[in-house]
Amino acid sequence: MKLYEVADDVVETGVLIAGAGAAGLLAGIKADDMNVDVAICSKGLFRKSGATVMSTGGMEVAIGHGDPTDNPDVHFRDTVVGGEYINDQRLVDVLTREAVERLVDLERMGIVFERQEDGRLFQFAPGGAHARVVILGDLAGSHYMVALNREVMRRNIRVFEEVMITNLLTTNGAISGAVGLDIKKGELIAFKAKAVILATGGAGQIYRYTSNPVQNTGDGRAMAYRVGAELIDMEMVQFHPTGLAYPPERRGTLVTEAVRMIGAYLLNNKGERFMSRYDPERMELSKRDVVARAICTEVREGRGTEWGGVYLDVSHVPEDVIERRLGVTRRKILFLTGMDLAKEPIHVYPTCHYFMGGVRADPDCSTKVPGLFVAGEEMGGVHGANRLGGNSITTLIVFGWRAGISAAKYAKEASFRPISAEQVAKERERVFGFLGRKDYIHPSKVRTELQTVMWDNVGIIRTEDSMRTALGVIERMRSYDLPKVGVPDGSRRYRMDWVEAIEFENMLDVAEMVTRSAMYRKESRGAHTRDDYPKKDNKNWLVHIVIRRVDGQMKLWTEPVELIKLKPPDV
Ligand SMILES: Cc1cc2nc3c(=O)[nH]c(=O)nc-3n(C[C@H](O)[C@H](O)[C@H](O)COP(=O)(O)OP(=O)(O)OC[C@H]3O[C@@H](n4cnc5c(N)ncnc54)[C@H](O)[C@@H]3O)c2cc1C
Repeated sequence: MKLYEVADDVVETGVLIAGAGAAGLLAGIKADDMNVDVAICSKGLFRKSGATVMSTGGMEVAIGHGDPTDNPDVHFRDTVVGGEYINDQRLVDVLTREAVERLVDLERMGIVFERQEDGRLFQFAPGGAHARVVILGDLAGSHYMVALNREVMRRNIRVFEEVMITNLLTTNGAISGAVGLDIKKGELIAFKAKAVILATGGAGQIYRYTSNPVQNTGDGRAMAYRVGAELIDMEMVQFHPTGLAYPPERRGTLVTEAVRMIGAYLLNNKGERFMSRYDPERMELSKRDVVARAICTEVREGRGTEWGGVYLDVSHVPEDVIERRLGVTRRKILFLTGMDLAKEPIHVYPTCHYFMGGVRADPDCSTKVPGLFVAGEEMGGVHGANRLGGNSITTLIVFGWRAGISAAKYAKEASFRPISAEQVAKERERVFGFLGRKDYIHPSKVRTELQTVMWDNVGIIRTEDSMRTALGVIERMRSYDLPKVGVPDGSRRYRMDWVEAIEFENMLDVAEMVTRSAMYRKESRGAHTRDDYPKKDNKNWLVHIVIRRVDGQMKLWTEPVELIKLKPPDV
């Protein structure tokens, strides 16, 4: 059997990147700087898919223009305290030190952040941190994407648009390439690569209500798991406090933290600024996990609005400030809800927003699988149990950069490992097996069921019983539904239901990792809230929960967090 007989196309490249958000694009640019052949694949459209283009509020950089007491050490402290001390402090150290240099690099690429009148940068304070977020109106994400894509095109880096990487290939335990489905043509591509960087973003789509775009189905985490990489702290899923609660068909859409940064109040149905009971000092600008839990409690205890949320009210802020800082957000909300936030309160409720847990990596972005690197939201451990607003973009920029350099160095020293036609044939059988199945279960049916089960049982507040229910459904879906999931035969071009079927298997893997980790951690910490273990327990649970596939089984264990720079006061 020859490779060309089982793949419709074969592509050879030094570094292959899955994902074209800011992390993937920057990794590509840096690997190209090192004179290595690079190819970037994106499941969605370049410039338009992934979460980066949707990001609004900017990024955290400790340059002290917004707050003269700020510096990288303070940024480190805020990030670790915010993450409830289970961050990988080696990664936080790199994040906070290198952010400043990366900011300068971004400005050189044409991403020029807003200035104060004296020329220094304008910086906002997000929840739980100093005034450190640099901004570009409320549309920072599209500016990053325009500038980075321009740079990728200028360099003539090979791009594969609407190509979904479906699985990684290994030879003797090291990366040898990957298989991709060209969604446009319905054809299979075999990539021979010395190194692969996973930058497929978050996995918010495993939950019913999410701010994440449709592409964020956790593909990278599932693929890394299948080739034996370690994942950490998968129970740590961030629910952003302010997703839309009204109208129901838009539930989950993000209302940026910038609304609270300019002074919005959160009110219950009695008109109380209820955050005074949960964090009287920081009020609405408390940490995201605290605010999300507070909203959830208000609604559970009957103080919510008729749409099952609370009010977010910014109508007391002068209209010109709202227009200047939140003009795009104002118009977006008007379009989605028919309500003008400058004039009336809107209904909000937490929404699944960000995965702190992900693929475990060293500060050079390498994983336990030789030749496999990660960048961006894919990477676990940076933010511990809770991420601060603006710190994700910082992660993309710092670790996207590093991943590109590390993968290029690796590729320069490595030679291509052989990939067998049999490996690719097996993947072809799996991917094409979803097409033309008889008595099929349509992927949208099981996908919606999985999202609902995860939202109801492994969401903002969890218990052993609720998680057992979720695990039962996941196990049933894996053994009974998955073999039947498929779509009728027909055209292979742009078959998005076929893509959904492939994604569903990844979503199942990620949902299982989240559920098993959440059951394992018998305490409440940051975003992980258990009704049956309501207290944080630094004596027993100052640990990472690590997951790896061993002999086809999901194995979990704990490893102590290395407190190399900062310890909790009671330890
Ligand atoms: C609405 C919204 C607003 C936000 N605002 C902020 C903010 O203001 N500040 C902040 O710090 N953070 C913010 N975040 C979080 C931040 O935007 C994300 O964490 C970050 O952009 C993730 O970037 P990434 O490069 O890792 O992945 P993404 O930008 O999500 O890109 C993922 C890429 O992977 C591709 N992909 C997925 N699966 C595959 C596959 N199998 N094969 C090939 N390609 C694949 C996608 O098509 C896409 O190109 C926000 C998030 C959202 C959703």
